[in-house]
Amino acid sequence: RIENVGFIGLGKMGSRMAMNLINSGFKVSVYDINTDAVKPFLDNGVIVKESPLQIAEASDVVITMLPSSSYVLDVYTGPRGLLKSGSPMRPWLFIDSSTIDPQTSRKLSVAVSACALKEKIDQWENSVMLDAPVSGGILAAGAGTLTFMVGGPKEAYLGAECLFLSMGKATIYCGGAGNGSAAKICNNMAMAVSMIGLSEAFVLGQSLGIPCRTLTKIFNSSSARCWCSDSYNPVPGVMEQVPSSRNYHGGFASKLMVKDLNLAIASANEAGVHHPLASQAQEIFDKLCKEGHEAEDFSCVFRHYYGGRDE
Ligand code: NAD
Repeated sequence: RIENVGFIGLGKMGSRMAMNLINSGFKVSVYDINTDAVKPFLDNGVIVKESPLQIAEASDVVITMLPSSSYVLDVYTGPRGLLKSGSPMRPWLFIDSSTIDPQTSRKLSVAVSACALKEKIDQWENSVMLDAPVSGGILAAGAGTLTFMVGGPKEAYLGAECLFLSMGKATIYCGGAGNGSAAKICNNMAMAVSMIGLSEAFVLGQSLGIPCRTLTKIFNSSSARCWCSDSYNPVPGVMEQVPSSRNYHGGFASKLMVKDLNLAIASANEAGVHHPLASQAQEIFDKLCKEGHEAEDFSCVFRHYYGGRDE
């Protein structure tokens, strides 16, 4: 049964995802520590709660969309958290769509199941968790065309598909707890490297006298085509509605890219996998952040690291 959905984390992604759930007819209540993030929901008559615990008490399913692992841990296990001991645990399903490390996803999945058993409230005894990070960025979040990569119990995944498809166009089941998070950090590792490679090629093109608009047409019908070239172009003026064409405002912050590369590198180290390009990408995005571009979209690497010019 999915009627009441609680949504925590109304930032660039979460606000758009929550709106799509509301537009699909779910009864949504929301929470965010930032009052500015909550205001548009309050103005639209959406129920706003005052803590994760209150969200848990009012929801069949809770979705979290938070910056990183420590925020997610706090929202789940903090003093007024979703799993606050002693509270009647109402949700049967917890979905975390934040990009975090697979180890934390697995730890939380165990904590949810342990909490459900401890509370011994019949209908919620089988509460479970899915890690369901997304790919697609803010445009896809707004358009409801995200891709969800999901780890956790398969029955819960099937039961939650209607929610995923209200916010996205595709869901991919990745296996047990933590596997959605593992898939996501691999995706972002590849995306970071491809954005840097593309920027480097564009700047070479500019210095050889080929406009980026022309190079984009070539790449998009040739073997260099990638998401960064055809959907998220880093050159200001080549595509409308992407962060590069609004001074790298909004989008996927460079500091979040550093976070994801750190997660990928930590997992690669643990698995004994070589990662020379991920390390180099981490250094480049870290440098951008230290130079004051941490809130700008990660495609700003084209302008600030390579000195690329507008079209
Ligand atoms: P954001 O910083 O815009 O939003 C995070 C929100 O969480 C903010 O509104 C913040 O106030 C809220 N928050 C922080 N601590 C909280 C707490 N304790 N309780 C309640 N709310 C709290 O970030 P975003 O860009 O929306 O990204 C969210 C997640 O999605 C990240 O893990 C990111 O890596 C991932 N992601 C982002 C994009 C993107 O393009 N922005 C794409 C895919 C995945």
